[in-house]
Amino acid sequence: MIDFLLKYNTNAPRYTSYPPANLFHAAESKAQVERIWRDSNVLKPQNVSFYFHIPFCKKRCLFCGCTAELLPGKQDELVRYFNALFAEMDEKLPWIDASRPVTQVHFGGGTPSAVPYSFLEKILNKLRERFTFAPHAEIAIECNPSLIDEPRLRELAQMGFNRVSYGIQDFDPQVLKNVGRDPSILPVKELLTLSRELNFTGINLDLIYGLPSQTEAAFYKSVELAAEAHPDRIALFSYAHVPWVKKAQKALEKFPLPTPHEKLGFFLEARDMFKKAGFVDVGMDHFCDPKDSLSIALSEGLLHRNFQGYCTRATTGEVYAFGSSAISQLDNAYSQNIHESRKYVELQEAHQMTEIRCEEISYEERIIRDAIEHLMCNRKLKVLEEEKRVLGAGWDRLLALEDDKLLVKKSDFEVEATELGTLVIRYLAMQLDPLMQKVQREGVFSKTI
Ligand code: SF4
Repeated sequence: MIDFLLKYNTNAPRYTSYPPANLFHAAESKAQVERIWRDSNVLKPQNVSFYFHIPFCKKRCLFCGCTAELLPGKQDELVRYFNALFAEMDEKLPWIDASRPVTQVHFGGGTPSAVPYSFLEKILNKLRERFTFAPHAEIAIECNPSLIDEPRLRELAQMGFNRVSYGIQDFDPQVLKNVGRDPSILPVKELLTLSRELNFTGINLDLIYGLPSQTEAAFYKSVELAAEAHPDRIALFSYAHVPWVKKAQKALEKFPLPTPHEKLGFFLEARDMFKKAGFVDVGMDHFCDPKDSLSIALSEGLLHRNFQGYCTRATTGEVYAFGSSAISQLDNAYSQNIHESRKYVELQEAHQMTEIRCEEISYEERIIRDAIEHLMCNRKLKVLEEEKRVLGAGWDRLLALEDDKLLVKKSDFEVEATELGTLVIRYLAMQLDPLMQKVQREGVFSKTI
């Protein structure tokens, strides 16, 4: 099976957005960004999500592929970053209709749990002053478990956080040491028990497979321990070795790196182990408790996905994002801030535009975007006559994969991925993408497996 699947291991976007983020056009002006934000108020979904990017980490993990940087040595610089972020909120929040309900606030990074919590509290207070939070609103934070002890977790709960994701990455202390990552302060089971006592839900653990020096036996032990700890969700990410982009990864080349064949073996075995332990495989790389909202959404064909991960429409609306590199994901467009936090601060302080990209989405692109998202999340797709017309040759390319046993054609308008097809769902999605030739350029996107 591994050799069969590797036939489809081609370069493709992860399709977290459509068009993919690295094909977004340059932003024209602040007025353009203001117009698309204001116009989004009458579009769907009506509920509002906020994303705040906190790019700082206490320590740099050698494997990291995120937009992250070390916490500034001087408190002044941290204060400057947050002042810039507060100024961005003051400028842009009035563009969003305050009668729209807030159903989600997400803090990502970097390590949002590494900064003094007073900054996070001020962000939440600014939102609460202006908007009404829905009773089921999800307030989520990505945490590095090496920084979370009981008092700090209690503090987050008191501030209103109710969803948490822990970057465990691997349970093996030697692997963690090799890749420059500190282990969890609390034993993981204890961390989960405490999180539940404090009413956190949708508790997620991140694991990475294919890390340098990760042996097969040690990795499967990590999988076993993660399953035993039984969080609500486990995200199993593939390590992408791209030292020409992420220079720190060069230091990892002294350790053995698994081949694509071995990596796929790791993933397939872990997938079996999680399924045997009672988890449902959701999306490309998530394993969820059957009672978790993501498993339920999958069974109902209502799973969605955005830059923050898999989601449901009950919590995730149009996403308005703040901070360096943050991407707003609206029904009509995407807009993205400049990556480097120092430049973001300087631009904000000089009252200049911080947005570097703004991609307005055409009628046709919306149809393609929604089709790709639905197929990738729910592993099936039913289109209307008009949608089929817009998808054009892409729909025909997709149907042709029935010969490869990657999908079943239910009718001229409906397909469903097979078990094999779900393992290469990015390859299936890529068929619907008219930019396919461009996106396949070597080195622009990672491999689909
Ligand atoms: S803590 Fe997370 S974001 Fe920061 S360097 Fe490590 S992996 Fe990257």
